[in-house]
Amino acid sequence: MKCRRCREPAIIDLRRHNAAFCKDCFWRHCHEQVKRAIHDFDMIERGERVLVAVSGGKDSLALWHILHELGYAAEGLYLGLGIGDYSDESGRFARDFATRFGLVLHEVDLPGDVGFDIPDGSRAARRAPCSACGLSKRHLFNQAATQLGFDVVATGHNLDDEAAVLFGNTLRWDAEYLGRQYPVLPAAEGFAKKVKPLVRLGEREMAAYCVTQRIDYILDECPMAVGNRHLHYKELLNRLEDSSPGAKAAFLFHFFDKAHQHFADAVVEERDALEACTVCGSPTPAGECAFCRLQARATRSDAIPVSIGRRPV
Ligand code: SF4
Ligand SMILES: [Zn+2]
Ligand SMILES: [Zn+2]
Repeated sequence: MKCRRCREPAIIDLRRHNAAFCKDCFWRHCHEQVKRAIHDFDMIERGERVLVAVSGGKDSLALWHILHELGYAAEGLYLGLGIGDYSDESGRFARDFATRFGLVLHEVDLPGDVGFDIPDGSRAARRAPCSACGLSKRHLFNQAATQLGFDVVATGHNLDDEAAVLFGNTLRWDAEYLGRQYPVLPAAEGFAKKVKPLVRLGEREMAAYCVTQRIDYILDECPMAVGNRHLHYKELLNRLEDSSPGAKAAFLFHFFDKAHQHFADAVVEERDALEACTVCGSPTPAGECAFCRLQARATRSDAIPVSIGRRPV
């Protein structure tokens, strides 16, 4: 197997692209895919400050690495979820990465700074763990970005993640979620811009990127992921991709090109109608936002505004 670009021995075969690459050309391929996603979807302007949501996993660390190498002013935010050893270890990978590349990592510790961890929070609020976790992440990443003066929040959602989410949203024809599913959500009053620059790269590519760039990341899956239906959708889509390479990317990108706009207007109207949360000031339909209600239930006390920690390396 030879590299498509330079004819040296290849280290990875990408059937979706009908191509194989050597280590250097694979590195270039990943950078080009990110550059293309940023350009095609107007994700980041030069000079904008980017906050990368860092979990210690392969996707977020690869994303931070690529954005840094592309010259963006990208700092990280790690959220300690209080999920036992998994959180301790993932935090170590995030800190080690920041130290190695001399990058700034901000941190919020849910148990220490907010008063609850994900297992307790989900029990108290009677939400599935991933639902309580997703709500906390969205809220705290956005709050950190607005408090610390970042223009953009970048997350490591890759092509496989996005195709699986789209599959779930389409199975239910969930118009609200379909309207929000796009690689960029523009900034609005109280919201930083949200971008997904890895949308053109698959899970296998991100793992290979970390291995070839010697980026250490947490290999264990979060223990709370058991039973998560997106894992099941990923398996189904992987089987489809095996027999029909490129099917996953076609499903996702044709949705962006041909269908997303039909669902998008409702999201803009919904955002325009939001008010400030009476506790934390974040945008919400009315009264206390969903995160402040979760916090109050999980801690059995009044919700308090969270201050975002900073950890220069
Ligand atoms: S698997 Fe669920 S609980 Fe674990 S980090 Fe992901 S969203 Fe959070
Ligand atoms: Zn090559
Ligand atoms: Zn609030």
